[in-house]
Amino acid sequence: MFKAKAYSAAGATSPLAFKMIQRRDTTEHDVQIEILFCGVCHSDLHTVRNEWSSIMPTVYPCVPGHEIAGRVTKVGSAVTKFKPGDLAGVGCLVDSDHTCPSCKADLEQFCPNGTFTYNSPDKHLGGVTYGGYSDSIVVDERFVLRVPSNLNLAGVAPLHCAGITTYSPMRHWGVGKGKKVGVVGLGGLGHMGVKFAHALGAHVVVFTTSAGKKEDALRLGADEVVVSRNADEMKKHAGSIDFILDTIAADHDLNAYIHLLGRDGNLTLVGAPETPFAVGGFGLLFGRHSLSGSLIGGLAETQEMLDFCGSHNITADVEIIPIQKINEAYERMLKSDVKYRFSIDMASLKDK
Ligand code: NAP
Ligand code: ZN
Repeated sequence: MFKAKAYSAAGATSPLAFKMIQRRDTTEHDVQIEILFCGVCHSDLHTVRNEWSSIMPTVYPCVPGHEIAGRVTKVGSAVTKFKPGDLAGVGCLVDSDHTCPSCKADLEQFCPNGTFTYNSPDKHLGGVTYGGYSDSIVVDERFVLRVPSNLNLAGVAPLHCAGITTYSPMRHWGVGKGKKVGVVGLGGLGHMGVKFAHALGAHVVVFTTSAGKKEDALRLGADEVVVSRNADEMKKHAGSIDFILDTIAADHDLNAYIHLLGRDGNLTLVGAPETPFAVGGFGLLFGRHSLSGSLIGGLAETQEMLDFCGSHNITADVEIIPIQKINEAYERMLKSDVKYRFSIDMASLKDK
């Protein structure tokens, strides 16, 4: 084992603070990575504050972070995909059983024995896994992604969660030319959703509660922008949208969006607020609408997404912060005051 620097939360109401943690020594299949940037996902905040206690209670201390980009510093003897000096990324998954039907279908995110990057039982060290708010991490090479070298690394880090979480459902539901697509919530996930839907050739409508984000939405690739609190603007799109991706992190009315779906339209949730939704059955019956959810993506599809970003020059729009600003960043994220993802410059961790 070796020691790594990290930021962790000691409890649901504690701020994140400096802490030394243990990482395992590289086994034969492991890759050791010096973390250069880590994106700040709203799931980090939900977990740190134990907002998902009924599904995945948080074990403290909690070191969040699953949007990791860095450089390989060491590899185990059996590693074939990476060598020291390579750029590398890690997302939300660090292990799975490789034998279940989901793993066999390249859908490791649904493996019943999967290990998340943080707050999952750690098979090697006991306790729970510690994530990317740290200067290093050791991960099985099967869960390490190749990062395109032509992209800005601070903006690449968020692709490992916000990127794949929006890319995967769009591919699954056939977003492309001739489709009208809605993206609800212009935050970390939402702004990536706009970029992907636009790159895939769809007609993109952004639904935002923040009138001040209108210009940005158009710059990011939206064809139209609707301020969702304006009932008249919402009405214009009634019964017309093929696919809606809902990224909102808080409780809200789903029926208003189901109402915008065209025949056989689909509303997919990726946002994960803690409270359950109230959904009217008739909104689904008329128009044969469906309501679905999607969870990150498998490893092969995550690599496909990163390669797609490399060839289309897509990264997240980031505000780079030192780790010392992380608690302030959480408060700003809650106020939808981030354009559009915080990316932690891990060099700042040298100063604690
Ligand atoms: P984020 O950056 O905070 O963005 C969420 C956006 O939702 C905000 O920017 C805001 O957009 C909108 N919003 C926030 N509060 C709202 C409210 N009360 N009513 C209406 N709109 C509101 O968060 P994120 O990192 O993109 O994550 C979004 C959600 O997805 C979180 O719940 C997160 O845990 C979840 N998530 C799920 C997966 C998955 O695999 N399914 C993966 C990652 C994250 P506007 O200002 O444009 O209104
Ligand atoms: Zn995330």
